[in-house]
Amino acid sequence: MALTNQRVEVPVTIDEGLCIDGCTLCVEACPLDSLAINDETGKAYMHVDECWYCGPCAARCPVDAVTINIPYLLR
Ligand code: SF4
Ligand code: SF4
Repeated sequence: MALTNQRVEVPVTIDEGLCIDGCTLCVEACPLDSLAINDETGKAYMHVDECWYCGPCAARCPVDAVTINIPYLLR
């Protein structure tokens, strides 16, 4: 049986390999304060599983590290 390794667990995922240490643009852009910077890694992550799928977090990211996983039913 084929297993998928593409499980999406939160509405917004951040590619830590791309995210720039010290940048907070996506955190500041989110109207729900759903994003935060991980103190240990210095990278952004979704700390509250709440999202309007509005887009500024991804639009502000200079390195395209933010992916908004829009649910199929909302597309
Ligand atoms: S899509 Fe909107 S609500 Fe969701 S994390 Fe980004 S800025 Fe916040
Ligand atoms: S805007 Fe992009 S580079 Fe900046 S903290 Fe967010 S994910 Fe990282």
